[in-house]
Amino acid sequence: MKMVNSGSKQYDVVIIGGGPAGLTAGLYTSRARLTTLLIESALYGGQMTTTEMVENYPGFPEGITGGDLSRLMEEQAKRFGMEAVNEEVIEAKLAGERKSIQTSGATYLCDAVIICTGTEYRKLGVPGELEFRGKGVSYCATCDGAFFKDNEIMVVGGGDSALTEALFLTKFVKGLTIIHRRDALRATKIYQERALTNPKIKFLWNSVVQAIKGDQIVRSVVVKNVKTGEIKELTAEGVFMFVGLEPRTHFLKGLLQMDDRGYIVTNEDCETSVKGVFAAGDCTKKLLRQIATAVGDGATAAFAAEKYIDEKE
Ligand code: NAP
Repeated sequence: MKMVNSGSKQYDVVIIGGGPAGLTAGLYTSRARLTTLLIESALYGGQMTTTEMVENYPGFPEGITGGDLSRLMEEQAKRFGMEAVNEEVIEAKLAGERKSIQTSGATYLCDAVIICTGTEYRKLGVPGELEFRGKGVSYCATCDGAFFKDNEIMVVGGGDSALTEALFLTKFVKGLTIIHRRDALRATKIYQERALTNPKIKFLWNSVVQAIKGDQIVRSVVVKNVKTGEIKELTAEGVFMFVGLEPRTHFLKGLLQMDDRGYIVTNEDCETSVKGVFAAGDCTKKLLRQIATAVGDGATAAFAAEKYIDEKE
C-alpha cells in the first residue's frame, strides 16, 4: 500500500466483498504479489458465516461449519499479505485507468477492482414483515434459531435456503410449517428427502403469506391458498423468510452492465463492461450460486486482474 498526495491509499487491486469469491480473489492477487485491499462491511465469509454446516464444498467429507470455512479462507488470504478493512463502500468511480473507492473511513485508489458483493435475502413485501423484523420475523436461522426454542413457527419458500434453514431450525422448535407457493419444491433433492421425512416439518402447499400479525411479537400469519382462494389465519410465534436473493449491487447502478435484476454481466474471464473492473461470485449473472462456484470465479477474476495490470504497465 502507498499513500498518495491527497491522503488516499493506493493499491494494485481493491476487492469489494469478503465472501468466498472475495477471499479467494485476495488469496490469488496477494500470491501474485499485487498489493491488495479487501473491503468488507460485515463478517469475513459473507453468507457462509450464517450457514451451519457446508456439505457440498469439496475437501471436507464430513462437512465443515460455515464459520470454520470462513475463518480458514480469511486466514489463508491474509497469510499471503492481503489487507482487509471493515468498512462500507459508499461510492465507486470505476471509469478510467485509476479507480477510486470511497468508504465511510477513507478513499482507496487502485488499478483494478474486483466486485464480490454477493447477495442478500429478498423481502417478501407483505404487511407486518418489516414491523415484526427482529420480533419474530427473521432471515437467518443460525442467527435467531435459538430464540424459538419449543415454538411453532413458519418458514416461507421452497428453495435450498428454505429447506436447509428449516432442517436446522428443527433442533430448536416444537414444529414448523414450510409455506410454499407451488406444489413442488425447487430445492436440491437431498434436502427435499430430509425435509419431507422430518417429523417436525409440515408443508402447506400452493400457499402464499398475505400478512404477518401480532402485538409486541408475531402471533399469527395470514395465508391464502392460490388454488382455492381460501384464506386462513394460522398461529405462529416466528416466521423465517427465504424467498430468494437479490444482488448487493445497488451502489454500482449505472456504472457497469447489469441484467434487469441487478446481477453484474461478466464474460468467462470475469471481466465486466468496464475495463479494469472484474466481478466474481453470487453478485454476477450465472447459472449456479454456490461456494464452489464463487471460489472458482474469485480465482479467475484475480488472474484476469493480474493480466490486465501487467498489460497496462
Ligand atoms: P431460490 O432458489 O431463488 O428459491 C426461492 C424460493 O422462494 C423458491 O422456492 C420460490 O418459489 C420462493 N419464492 C420466491 N418469491 C416468492 C414470493 N414472492 N412468494 C412466495 N415464494 C416465493 O433462493 P434460495 O433458496 O435462497 O437459494 C439461492 C441460491 O443459493 C441457490 O442457487 C441455491 O442453490 C443456493 N443455496 C445453496 C445451499 C446449499 O447448497 N447448501 C443453501 C442455500 C442456498 P418458486 O420455487 O415457485 O420459484
